Amino acid sequence: MKALVSKRALIAIGTLVAVGILVFVFFSLREVTPVKEAEEIEKPTDAVTHKIIGKSVEGRNIDAYIYGDGKTRLLFVGGIHGGYEWNSVLLAYKFMDYLKENPEIIPKNISVAIIPSANPDGMARVIPKEGRFSFDDVPAIELPNGTGRFNANNVDLNRNFDCKWKPKGTWKNKIVSAGTSAFSEPEAQAIRDFAQTYSPDSVIFWHSQANAVYASECEDGILPKTLDIMNAYSRASGYTAIKKFDSYEVAGDAEGWLASINIPAITVELSTHETVEWDRNLAGIKALFRYYGL
Ligand SMILES: [Zn+2]
Repeated sequence: MKALVSKRALIAIGTLVAVGILVFVFFSLREVTPVKEAEEIEKPTDAVTHKIIGKSVEGRNIDAYIYGDGKTRLLFVGGIHGGYEWNSVLLAYKFMDYLKENPEIIPKNISVAIIPSANPDGMARVIPKEGRFSFDDVPAIELPNGTGRFNANNVDLNRNFDCKWKPKGTWKNKIVSAGTSAFSEPEAQAIRDFAQTYSPDSVIFWHSQANAVYASECEDGILPKTLDIMNAYSRASGYTAIKKFDSYEVAGDAEGWLASINIPAITVELSTHETVEWDRNLAGIKALFRYYGL
């Protein structure tokens, strides 16, 4: 009798344990499902494509990062004037971080490409740290005016593009090298080749420090869309819209070359050489998203 009770008790305990395991497994599986969904939702934050689009004279990588896959394409370029305008590169990094955190900000029909540092050799003259840098890496000492503006061949890259190109360019009251021919420099070639394959609907170059947004043109006047995006960015950011840069003659500029191949391009100049002015530029970027978004 005792043995029988024990057997029944064992069966009862065994059944309870089995049911317990089943219940545990059932609820465990239920817990797994929402985690999977969360992972799927988070996936777009990693939706960035990194491309090495060229090498500088000294062999540093020139990178592009592409976000989203919409058919309307916006290209943002920082640092064509290297370490002289390091804040334009920090602004591009800030934009990259923002897109990683807020991928939904990009309208579905738009993709964004960012070339954060178009002149890495010039950047290295001011900030020797290789790769991505932060405010902490910026030297506290004041460097001679113009340090890091040119590439390693001492060429002003924003005079090396194929729009009214001349071997000698102008920068303020100085004569600067524009290279041995249009696109003689690998950094300018990298931007040209990327622009030709990515085929952007518009291009925004970040510079400093004129506190303005400029339109662009080569031989055939300003494209209507260039005026639209200049005005949209200007109104949202507060940078003054200026149709024509006439402080001194500029030839061989990247924006002019883009205008010559029918791609609207604007130059956004931050108000100092040391500030990123993120809120103003985010407002400008959002204005472009509104302009091109469906
Ligand atoms: Zn510049």
